[in-house]
Amino acid sequence: MSDWTDIIHVATTHDPLSGAINTPIQLSSTFHQSSFNDFGEFDYARSGNPTRASGEIAIATLEHGTHGFLFSTGMAAISSVLFTLSAGDHIVVSKHVYGGTFRVLEDILPRWGITHDFVDFADVAAATKAIKPNTKALYIETPSNPTLQVTDIKAIVAVAKKHHLLTIADNTFLSPFLQRPLDLGVDIVVHSATKFLAGHSDILAGAVVVKQKALADRIYFIQNAVGATLGVFDTWLLLRGMKTLAVRMTQSSQSAKKIATFLAQHDKVSRILYPGLSTHQGYDIQLSQAKNGGAVLSFDVGSQHNAQTVVANLKIPVFSVSLGGVESIISYPPKMSHAELTTTQLLENGISPGLLRLSVGLESADDLINDLNQALNKIKKGA
Ligand SMILES: *Cc1c(COP(=O)(O)O)cnc(C)c1O
Repeated sequence: MSDWTDIIHVATTHDPLSGAINTPIQLSSTFHQSSFNDFGEFDYARSGNPTRASGEIAIATLEHGTHGFLFSTGMAAISSVLFTLSAGDHIVVSKHVYGGTFRVLEDILPRWGITHDFVDFADVAAATKAIKPNTKALYIETPSNPTLQVTDIKAIVAVAKKHHLLTIADNTFLSPFLQRPLDLGVDIVVHSATKFLAGHSDILAGAVVVKQKALADRIYFIQNAVGATLGVFDTWLLLRGMKTLAVRMTQSSQSAKKIATFLAQHDKVSRILYPGLSTHQGYDIQLSQAKNGGAVLSFDVGSQHNAQTVVANLKIPVFSVSLGGVESIISYPPKMSHAELTTTQLLENGISPGLLRLSVGLESADDLINDLNQALNKIKKGA
């Protein structure tokens, strides 16, 4: 079946009781057991409930995994995966990792004796050098935020396999419609389902998908023990959002390419970062492992002052954090997602003072281009 059919099929489950074609919201924290000795599939809702189970099957199917897990947020999902590590373990992590993941790795796990090193996975040799005898996993995020650097997933998986390590991939930026890390050999996929999967900037949610029973057991143990599970209402909204994943990703990524092409030739834009443009550093790798360049791009307008002028004059995109909604979202990473980095760290990560990130929504691409054009042209010459 094509991805388009799959998505509708898995997000639409028939209720065995009534035949309702939408997953019922089962508001029950506990479940009656009809036998004294043999308990049913569900007993207490933290351990599992029918609504969440439908959503977990759906995300597992979309990522081509065998087991899916839904969490209250992306950070709950990512933390739960990291909590499978033990004192004395070490993990090698992309230096472009999401800020919340950075915070857990830097400020929580070391207190429990779990250490890490950050590397640039574009340099496979350097990444290999960071592996220690106690390293347990490699953690990647591709394309990265906000500079859209592409990591060669197969190359990193090969390194991991050679050293008997797990590979963990944050697939938030592309969603399973555009990229499926498990098919490329990754062991654990994590998501902020808050973004493209839910797609409407209305809920927070996280997901983990694996394709090995032993790994699934370890993650389920943490999910049930720690309890940061996705509630039934939010699971229902996530399923509703996922039904349109294919059309949303197709439309938004087409518009993103059109907008990136426009920005690349605009004289007020000094740098455009979009992995769907042939001029991008990771273009060939991107197209070998994903359907296209995705729906997020970043561009540099030269200075913080110019970035402020553009934001103040844009009429269509909302100015906020987050991404992956039906509405276009413009953000200023130095003051938003990457506010915790020092000026030096920002520059080391390619986050220049004039960098803006655009998550392209479902508005007309031509309207967005016209809006960007008028806002860019408000920048004074030589500013
Ligand atoms: C937003 C985001 C997260 C964190 O997800 P929350 O749902 O906000 O907890 C993790 N990784 C990436 C790439 C993200 O964009």
